[in-house]
Amino acid sequence: MFLSEINESVRQRLDDVARIVNDGDDHAVTEVARSEVPHLVGAVWALLAEHQPNELGECPACSRGMWRWQRPWRRPTSPCKAYLSAWRALFDEARDEPRHASH
Ligand SMILES: [Zn+2]
Repeated sequence: MFLSEINESVRQRLDDVARIVNDGDDHAVTEVARSEVPHLVGAVWALLAEHQPNELGECPACSRGMWRWQRPWRRPTSPCKAYLSAWRALFDEARDEPRHASH
């Protein structure tokens, strides 16, 4: 399977879930919550797996990327982008405002 096909099917699934949650009746929302939320949670955990903080409290994946171009003795100065994105999506105050599928 090519990446473009995977990309398309993931986008399609996320769009479907968002559309049902935004516009579906309560029964449809309950159904999609039961069937899809576990998969969404699993997807987030899978994406964050390699970003778990190490014993220094740093992300080994993002630190490694930064060390390619920074002097090796310098610590990364910005936090893990994957966790920042997840945190913003889960806790950002603006998340409760109506939003449409954005690409
Ligand atoms: Zn990271």
